[in-house]
Amino acid sequence: MRFSALAIARHALTGHAHWPPLWRSPTPQPRYDVIIIGGGGHGLATAYYLATLHGIRRVAVLEKGWLGGGNTGRNTTVLRSNYFYPESAHFYDFSLRLYEELATELNFNIMLSQRGQLTLGHSTHQMEMLARWMNALQLNGIDGELLTQAQVRELLPQLNDSPRARYPVRGGLLQRRGGIARHDAVAWGYARAADANGVDIIQNCEVLDFMREGERIVGVRTPLGELRAERIGLAVAGHSSVLAAKAGFRLPVTSYALQACVTEPIKPALERVVLSMATGTYVNQSDKGELVIGGGLDLYPSYGQRGNLPTLQAVIAGLLELFPTFSRLRLLRQWAGIVDVVHDSTPIIDRSPARGLYLNCGWGTGGFKAIPGGGYVFAHLLATDTPHPLARAFTLHRFRSGALIDEAAAAGISH
Ligand SMILES: Cc1cc2nc3c(=O)[nH]c(=O)nc-3n(C[C@H](O)[C@H](O)[C@H](O)COP(=O)(O)OP(=O)(O)OC[C@H]3O[C@@H](n4cnc5c(N)ncnc54)[C@H](O)[C@@H]3O)c2cc1C
Repeated sequence: MRFSALAIARHALTGHAHWPPLWRSPTPQPRYDVIIIGGGGHGLATAYYLATLHGIRRVAVLEKGWLGGGNTGRNTTVLRSNYFYPESAHFYDFSLRLYEELATELNFNIMLSQRGQLTLGHSTHQMEMLARWMNALQLNGIDGELLTQAQVRELLPQLNDSPRARYPVRGGLLQRRGGIARHDAVAWGYARAADANGVDIIQNCEVLDFMREGERIVGVRTPLGELRAERIGLAVAGHSSVLAAKAGFRLPVTSYALQACVTEPIKPALERVVLSMATGTYVNQSDKGELVIGGGLDLYPSYGQRGNLPTLQAVIAGLLELFPTFSRLRLLRQWAGIVDVVHDSTPIIDRSPARGLYLNCGWGTGGFKAIPGGGYVFAHLLATDTPHPLARAFTLHRFRSGALIDEAAAAGISH
């Protein structure tokens, strides 16, 4: 069924009581061509591109909870492509371009809003960093604008401009194509389109262990039975090392809690996505009117999806430093997700040391913006057993060779 104005009008006649489910809940088959573990954005996008671009439709996505219940449904929805090194810049810009067409492609409103993402510099040193970053963007053909203090003030009139401000704003770097999209809609849109192309999406189906024949991984053990596949893709974010351990190898991934929170909804008050280089705090306003606030990681490895209070306090202090007027708002909700951090803040899209098992992980704090691109290149790897040219540098080998793509400055902060 296609969503359209006509469909809405037709369903209005019956009180909107007969919309079909967005995807089926099929019984798992004993054998698939490809099994994807993890029903977050990356797993679902991979399944969709396997079916639509590579004609591989005997695909199952196995999700231990509900679709998008991991980081995909917990993130602050910021999109941008202003990365530093060519490998990342080209990949993330490809992903952003896919986002720009995604609502039409999936026939699903992902509520993309390219309202501009603004990184604030607070010192001479940070302004020099932003200028260097801007130069890199130009070399990579990515849009960006270096803004003066006065230009920033014009965009953000509510900004703290007191002479006693702890971190006075000196200028900023704006990517106008940056913005936000609705995170659940991205997961649901891909799930619906994958299902329509024959993919089996199986929720409440945790992968407990792998099945082997000699050196090769040939299937998975789940509470719903043993399922076999030619190739198995792992897209479980913060749980990548848990499943890698079950497959018999270690990954250079550390799992941390990353928190976010929202305020009560208010009338439109903040047009851009704003990030402070001084504190790592960032904020945007959702279409519902809530301010969506995030910051740095809880600084110890954890699988607790709650987050600790001192980190939250530091994030809120950073927000109020920038926008003192927001101090009157009440926080509505706070949560955390478990993110998969690697040393150079660059993803891993590669074959794993266990034959038959492939990896999509290492997105850390910034993999929402990468969902279309990540799914696209991971589907290519699973379908052809060769890396997509855009992901050729995102291998495990770089941790051995030292050829890291250190995006800590552009990706490591917050989102
Ligand atoms: C608070 C927060 C804010 C963020 N903000 C941004 C942002 O603004 N912009 C941005 O680009 N990125 C952001 N991110 C990062 C982004 O959310 C993630 O990188 C991205 O969602 C990862 O997607 P995924 O599909 O790989 O993982 P997930 O969405 O986490 O999906 C993995 C799935 O695997 C499932 N799973 C785990 N183990 C098993 C198993 N054994 N069997 C079956 N299923 C299993 C999980 O239940 C989960 O649903 C943020 C993250 C957090 C936590």
